[in-house]
Amino acid sequence: MSTIFDKILGGEIPCHRVYEDDHVLAFLDIAPLSKGHTLVIPKEAKAHLHELSDESAAALGRALPRICRAVLAASGASAYNVLQNNGVKAHQAVRYVHFHIVPKKSGRGLGIGWDPAILDDETARELLEAMHAALAAE
Ligand code: AMP
Repeated sequence: MSTIFDKILGGEIPCHRVYEDDHVLAFLDIAPLSKGHTLVIPKEAKAHLHELSDESAAALGRALPRICRAVLAASGASAYNVLQNNGVKAHQAVRYVHFHIVPKKSGRGLGIGWDPAILDDETARELLEAMHAALAAE
């Protein structure tokens, strides 16, 4: 299924381009939470972060800090959030991998709800067993 970000990458609709290399495109969010709110996407068309190739993931990891520095320089902010939603339940509206870089300044930016529990040893043991098995199968 083609998303709005596929169309941006394909040149079918315009964007305010911040950065581009062989694997990554960054552009301004059209509905910014704060001035400078920028989106960073891989050119590899995947809906979720865990579906990306190592090559795309590495390229994103290389580009993100650079783009964060540009966002900070342009916005004058010194604080910011990087947000990456996966799945409708996790507030992902566009089903194409994207990272939000959202400056936090003058009361504008990302609002966060945080409702922590306490990690008990039994739960931690179960989780580690499952995660280590999953990682070993990679
Ligand atoms: P998410 O909820 O993480 O899927 O966020 C999707 C983001 O994409 C929102 O912040 C939108 O404002 C942004 N967005 C949607 N369409 C465009 C577009 N054509 N150009 C730039 N940003 C867009």
